[in-house]
Amino acid sequence: MKRMLLVLGLVLMCSQRFGVQPAPAQANARAASPPFAYQGAAAAEVLDSQKFFEIALKTGNRVIDRASEVEALLARMTLEEKVGQMTELEIGMVSNGKGATTKIDTAKLEKAIGKYGVGSIINVTDECFTIDEWHEIIRQIQESAQRTRLKIPVLYGIDSIHGVNYTIGSTLFPQEIGMAATWNPELMKRAAEITALETRACGIPWNFSPVLDLGRQPLWPRFYETFGEDPYLAKVMGVATVRGYEGTNIAASDHVAACLKHYLGYSFPLSGRDRSPSLIPENYLREYFMPTFQAAIAAGAHSIMVNSGDINGVPVHASRYLLTDVLRNELGFRGMVVSDWEDIKKLVTEHRVAATEKEATRIAVMAGIDMSMVPSDYSFSDNLIALVKEGAVPQARIDEAVARVLRLKFELALFDSPMPDPTLKSKFGSAESRAVSLEAARESITLLKNSNNLLPLTGNIKVLVTGPTADSLVSLNNGWSYTWQGTKSELYPKDRLTILRAIEARAGKQNVTYVPGSALDKELNIAEAAEAASHADVAIVCIGEGAYAETPGNIEDLALSDAQLRLAAAVSATGKPVVFVLVEGRPRIINRITDGAAAILMAYNPGNEGGRAIADVLFGDYNPSGKLPFTYPRHANALIPYDHKPYELRDTSYGNMAFKPQFEFGFGLSYTTFSYSDLRVEPKSLKGDAEVAVSVTVKNTGRRGGNEVVQLYVGDLVASISPPGKRLKRFARIHLEPGQSKTLSFTLRSDDLSFVGPNNRSIVEPGEFEVMVAGLSQRFTLTQAP
Ligand code: BGC
Repeated sequence: MKRMLLVLGLVLMCSQRFGVQPAPAQANARAASPPFAYQGAAAAEVLDSQKFFEIALKTGNRVIDRASEVEALLARMTLEEKVGQMTELEIGMVSNGKGATTKIDTAKLEKAIGKYGVGSIINVTDECFTIDEWHEIIRQIQESAQRTRLKIPVLYGIDSIHGVNYTIGSTLFPQEIGMAATWNPELMKRAAEITALETRACGIPWNFSPVLDLGRQPLWPRFYETFGEDPYLAKVMGVATVRGYEGTNIAASDHVAACLKHYLGYSFPLSGRDRSPSLIPENYLREYFMPTFQAAIAAGAHSIMVNSGDINGVPVHASRYLLTDVLRNELGFRGMVVSDWEDIKKLVTEHRVAATEKEATRIAVMAGIDMSMVPSDYSFSDNLIALVKEGAVPQARIDEAVARVLRLKFELALFDSPMPDPTLKSKFGSAESRAVSLEAARESITLLKNSNNLLPLTGNIKVLVTGPTADSLVSLNNGWSYTWQGTKSELYPKDRLTILRAIEARAGKQNVTYVPGSALDKELNIAEAAEAASHADVAIVCIGEGAYAETPGNIEDLALSDAQLRLAAAVSATGKPVVFVLVEGRPRIINRITDGAAAILMAYNPGNEGGRAIADVLFGDYNPSGKLPFTYPRHANALIPYDHKPYELRDTSYGNMAFKPQFEFGFGLSYTTFSYSDLRVEPKSLKGDAEVAVSVTVKNTGRRGGNEVVQLYVGDLVASISPPGKRLKRFARIHLEPGQSKTLSFTLRSDDLSFVGPNNRSIVEPGEFEVMVAGLSQRFTLTQAP
């Protein structure tokens, strides 16, 4: 379906964990979770990022031995039944119509399940469903599976990437990039728990999330699906997400199997365009792009989806090195590997590493693909059956792949309860879940500029609201919202407030004037907006992006559109105080207009509660604490991340080319101020595996309570591979009342001093290191390698 949309768009534009008993279905880890992390904790109780991470890893999935059941079932299966289990189709292969008109077609269903025995079905038809429609669809599919010889349940998969995005009335959260800006893994975990429950409530046990690709290429249209540019922040947030989805037992009726995607190196295309070539040296691949996957695998994640692109000319779907040698033998992944959409076909049609689809099928299966997201025909099954009969694919490889598919189904308890659980319906889209989404939106919002403390707005003031993202739930949510592209405004809930509506609710409708000014790419009535600004006390200019997902979101210029830049400049020219609210999935260049704004709020894509959260921050009902999870570039061609080499700070070209971003990674203001003192690093000299104790005192020196994200960076002063100036190693989110101070302690281990060396292995080299927290720094020396 998605592809049909894309084509239309173009035309228009031109555990298997081995060991113990099956756990009880109700097991649920949530009771043990402390409420949203760090706030309010006394100094000794501060749960820093690493402590959270280690607890999350330890509370991984229960080890469940399904080997004997899997083997027994496998022994009874024919080749055709086995290959069927490795086949994944999209819903259009078993239904007709779209959205509300979708109806299972019994003849199509009989062919897919009865004849081909397909193991998995995915997705929606263009539009979302109601929860009851989901139940009916899943029921018919599972009933059809029950009529087959072996009654193997079907594994339904969906992209619940910022909450359940394909069901009316679900809870939508900020996109991953906004969740990363909260620097609050406990909150991420809670959001993922709600997403898991709501996904299961629809009868769906498998979620194609989280995206663990690193957001280091801001042009990439899937940037907003990432946790930003830093591997440590993304790793902690990623593990939090997996723990929230999977709990301690994916058989639990309120948990789902996670699917880590897109292994490996998908997010770093050279041109910035989706699914286009990337060049990533192996040490860089391992240093930056692998840690998120490695950590989530260690956390017990049950499935992985593969990168559609190629790295250094090798499509990852054809890479036995990455899919078997590294993923299985090195990282120890024991779950199921699914291809991405049509990616076996694309080995022929796009990558041209195979002349026929049959050859592509052999290459991909032998590389390590266990299940093919075909998803719109039966070519995979037909080809693979022929390949096995010809001896080109050994039966053992088929058994290995099918065992992984079956194990996942056993672990999800699908053999016992394949049907949707009607009792979960009452918990779907609850007020409590909505409150968590509001909290996440608030915590994500990042105050980037606040000259003369213009914000928070106070008193009875006249406000002009203008700009293309002011009255749009579509912009607040971006792609993967009700539809793949997220652009159908009629599907969004009528009772959620856009930024405009939320400002009206807070400031009084009579005090708010709204003039659109400009559409996303087209001027509307800019002069009228400027005129209205001159009669207002403050102008709130809401700019940014609309909704897009994957390839249709490709852009050729990172700059914000001319129309929006002109609107912002015209409003600023009135001399009235101006606030920019940025609602965007990637950092669009705004250097032409930033000087004209007294205040700038970065909202990312905060979801359906975003309008209210933005108004809460604008009017001081919430003190902002979000911090950028990426470097906000000043120029479209100066895309340098924060962990650049020290010499990139200097002007190396006699021009003006040094690292000089618009806003730095980790940056974000508050309505209060914090001071840092007493950075202590002990010992000053150490050897081997000895730990480094770091402590620092943070004080709220302003006049209102606030949250602060304490960030600890480490720089390796000399290394055999030219080292970055600094890298994030720990963080902690704390709450301080005015005048209150807290001393935080962190422990660094030899691992934190390591880097991927010239032989592509992690090493620690003796020498001097620098610990940096806010403006403070201290050095220590490692005299001997571990
Ligand atoms: C995307 C995946 C997604 C899949 C199923 C693909 O096009 O790359 O992220 O999970 O479609 O919808």
